[in-house]
Amino acid sequence: MHQIQKYAILLVYIYIYSYVMAPKKDSTSTEELKNAVLAQEEKKEYQSDKFTKIETQVKDALSRQATDDALRDVSIWALVVWSSDVHYECFETYVVVRFRIDWVLVDIFRLTHAEYKKIVERLKYAAGLKLNISNVPQDGKYSLKIDGNKKIDVRVSTLPIHYGENIVCRILDSQKAIIDFEDLWFFWTSKRMLERAVSQKDGMILITGPTGSGKTTTLYTILNKLNSREKKIITLEDPIEYELEWVVQSEIDDKNGITFQSGLKACLRQDPDIIMVWEIRDYETLNTATSASLTGHLVLSTLHTKSAADTLDRIINMWLKPYILASALDTIIAQRLVRRICPDCKVEKKKTPQDIGILEAMMKETGMQALSTDHMKLYKWEWCSTCNNSGYKGRMGVYEIITLNEKIRDLIRSWGSVEEVISEARNWDLITMKEDGILKAIKWFTTIEEILRVV
Ligand SMILES: [Zn+2]
Repeated sequence: MHQIQKYAILLVYIYIYSYVMAPKKDSTSTEELKNAVLAQEEKKEYQSDKFTKIETQVKDALSRQATDDALRDVSIWALVVWSSDVHYECFETYVVVRFRIDWVLVDIFRLTHAEYKKIVERLKYAAGLKLNISNVPQDGKYSLKIDGNKKIDVRVSTLPIHYGENIVCRILDSQKAIIDFEDLWFFWTSKRMLERAVSQKDGMILITGPTGSGKTTTLYTILNKLNSREKKIITLEDPIEYELEWVVQSEIDDKNGITFQSGLKACLRQDPDIIMVWEIRDYETLNTATSASLTGHLVLSTLHTKSAADTLDRIINMWLKPYILASALDTIIAQRLVRRICPDCKVEKKKTPQDIGILEAMMKETGMQALSTDHMKLYKWEWCSTCNNSGYKGRMGVYEIITLNEKIRDLIRSWGSVEEVISEARNWDLITMKEDGILKAIKWFTTIEEILRVV
């Protein structure tokens, strides 16, 4: 063999090793990057003098034997500080009352076991639970009138633990105003895609994400946008969380045989235009829902999946035939909730070289390296009572939306892989949740740390 051929072969080997076989540095960088950013994060704890006020008020009511007032105070204060869950956690010598604010559990104050006993008895009585049973989990609910005629539902669940009975109360403000479509924080491309999907007479829109990803809010907001007297909208929920005028709302009731499957079939016999079935968990429900979509109904539902790709995967794994999926499905919205920066105490901070490095790496990872980091601002917090000294106030959605156009439908019909479908969707309008999040962080709505933590 000529010397020159040997060199050529060697060069080919070097090329193959360094570009094809060698581990790519970028592939390990995501996790490192995330850890680097989160390690840098300045952690703040939710603190507020409101928490002391709650403690004083509740303990005062308990000492007057006014347990009803104490419970009402806890629920009202939870809503005041934007919380929807109250946790009572038992320890050997005390009980902690905690609120979930945004998504963080915050210790509010402590009770003695004697004080807590009064609360447990009253809560169990109100929620229709058995007072004499404390060694098995129970659940129930009760309603509370505040400010005259405003109604709040409280769902109560108990769990016996070593030191007593833990209780978690979810507070549902069922009459609270549904937010406006404009307030869902969709960027304009996403909004345009969604507006087109909901303006159709038939089809299927799936909203996906884990528990606590804001699916309910998105679903009700879309329903509210579609709500009109000329259309019959029927829902099958578990449970009904908001009351919607004109909408026919029904609820799952296992004891009486109303399951997602049987309930959905019953709803379809009621001549609806639009159907909302809260969740698709099995093939039968999926099959009925897709048939409804193919026979001239607009179907809305949710799926407990992580991303748009994961959703397609799940549906295909439920053995729905690809040609049915391709015709029945229109839009998948995958979403998460991230905390919003407190508007009252954010202050711009000067970027360090490390900050710039992290930003550039993130842009590269999401394929947005064309955007210059020069205009990206970073911020720091000052102390502020608006955000209970946490730096965050309220939450917003980050989304990825796929709408099926003819090309994507053809791809699904011809058994294209999920990767091929996603890649085709990216040629059109699809932006991933992470990209949506980074764009929102760049616009100062949330933070890079928050996006990395959640998405
Ligand atoms: Zn603040």
